[in-house]
Amino acid sequence: MSVVDGLRGANAAHAAAFSGGRLPARPRRRLAVVTCMDARLDPALFLGLEAGDAHVIRNAGGLVNDETLRSLAISHHLLGTREAVVVGHTDCGMLTFTNDDLRARLGPEAGDVDFQPFSSLEGRVRESVEVIRRSPLLPDSFGATGFVYEVETGRLRDV
Ligand SMILES: [Zn+2]
Repeated sequence: MSVVDGLRGANAAHAAAFSGGRLPARPRRRLAVVTCMDARLDPALFLGLEAGDAHVIRNAGGLVNDETLRSLAISHHLLGTREAVVVGHTDCGMLTFTNDDLRARLGPEAGDVDFQPFSSLEGRVRESVEVIRRSPLLPDSFGATGFVYEVETGRLRDV
């Protein structure tokens, strides 16, 4: 069975038992979570979130960049969220390469792409929190808190 066929089968079982069809689109906890795409991170589990509770915005590194700000602006202005938490994590792959490394691997097509790697985990989380605080797309009242999730222990620590 292919990976995608496996997904189809899992979804059929999910839909057969589904009862969440009346959840409102506005996040119940008025929260947006920004975190990494790393497969070991399950924000619903480690933050105690249920369907309908929060927006979860994921990318390589859990970075707050222009694309993340686009999502946060929509999250806040159209869907009522009031704060974001930015969650980096230990052993993040974004700490392990440079733009030059990846450009060399991909060839000339990648010549001007910024893959946005970083060398300080806590530093990048702090920077992301600052990007939210300074963004003209979000009001000063919009909260931003930074965390690091430890993939080794399951614990979240403040940054
Ligand atoms: Zn990561």
